[in-house]
Amino acid sequence: METSAQRLPVVVEEVAETSGADDVPEPPGALRPLTAVQEVARAPASGHRLVGRAAFDATDEQWSDWRWQMSHRLRSLQDFQRILELSGEEIDGLTIACNKFVVGVTPYWASLMERDNAECPIRRQVVPSVKELYCSPTDMEDPCGEDHDMKTPGLVHRYPDRVLFLSSDKCASYCRYCTRSRLVGNGELGSVLQRLELAAAYVEGQPQVRDVLISGGDPLLLSETVLARIIRRFRSIPHIEMVRLGSRVPSYLPQRITPRLVRTLRSNGAFYLSVHFSHPREVTPEVERALATIADGGVVLGSQTVLLRGINDDAETLKRLWQRLLANRVRPYYLYQCDPVMGTSHFRTSVAAGVEIMRRVRGFTSGYAVPTYVIDAPGGGGKTPVNSDYIVEHGADKVTMRNWAGNLYAYPEI
Ligand SMILES: *Cc1c(COP(=O)(O)O)cnc(C)c1O
Repeated sequence: METSAQRLPVVVEEVAETSGADDVPEPPGALRPLTAVQEVARAPASGHRLVGRAAFDATDEQWSDWRWQMSHRLRSLQDFQRILELSGEEIDGLTIACNKFVVGVTPYWASLMERDNAECPIRRQVVPSVKELYCSPTDMEDPCGEDHDMKTPGLVHRYPDRVLFLSSDKCASYCRYCTRSRLVGNGELGSVLQRLELAAAYVEGQPQVRDVLISGGDPLLLSETVLARIIRRFRSIPHIEMVRLGSRVPSYLPQRITPRLVRTLRSNGAFYLSVHFSHPREVTPEVERALATIADGGVVLGSQTVLLRGINDDAETLKRLWQRLLANRVRPYYLYQCDPVMGTSHFRTSVAAGVEIMRRVRGFTSGYAVPTYVIDAPGGGGKTPVNSDYIVEHGADKVTMRNWAGNLYAYPEI
């Protein structure tokens, strides 16, 4: 399909020709030295040691090859025992809980873990704990009610003008708090190309749908050829105005982000990518390079973060994360209250804590760094904003509000 994307290189050349020869080139933001505050944000908790790259026997070429990373993922108790001092809960998690939900961690991600601290935020996201076996009475298999809104295999139609297409059931690493653990990693979703035609035919019959979100499982693990076919098929539908993707590959497997992959997205008309990040320590030099490749390739970046107890549930950590992302051309999009998925209650915070965190961020840093805090309402209600309430009193003649710093102001109501 002919899109404006295919004409972009011409435009870039014109700009390059007309810009003055003495223009000083901007240093790429991603490659600037870190400030002291940023260094602290990236360091392991004090006194702890990182696993580091040296724990893996890989050449530079292997390390930067995403297929090497995928085929050398850590999956078993023995794999983790080799690089980490495991806690009892982790050992039991890797012996029993791993049978409930697949385990897999890229060596790159594992290299960022603290080897002697089971509370390490990088580690807790992916190493199973025996706590996963505890199901609280409010836990659900499918908390967001996606199965109810699934119109064809892997196509969820909930909102009036947009649909969600689950491209695969594979991820680069598996988040222990995954909202789709019922589907991910178990092979039941079936081949994406077989499901694509059914999904596209459904969308063709829904003229009010203008936006297709491809998520998963992680779509960026598909080959460029398959990705191009999926995006093009949806873009071929006259009323589809945009195709976007959701992915955690930039944080779990930045090696996958190549100029060729970004060209595949851009030239087939997928202009937006939402990336999942939880903690400022995830924004490594490799990740900064990957994000720069995506942004330079003309794909607009947004971020999604899940609020996780003991991992990122404080305002300073999240503010630093969002500032780091923003400095790398990623606009924070959503902060999610953790969905009540089976066996994830140890990851959840109260909504009150989340609201208070947002209150401590809004106004204290760039507005661009502040995402919308939402709960994906259990039972299929969809994403519902739960941001702090700044209106103290809404009278007939004035609105009384509390500003970001906690002071009261009034605005006349007409
Ligand atoms: C999140 C989601 C979307 C996209 O929602 P936006 O708020 O537009 O990003 C679409 N469909 C489903 C089922 C979703 O869960």
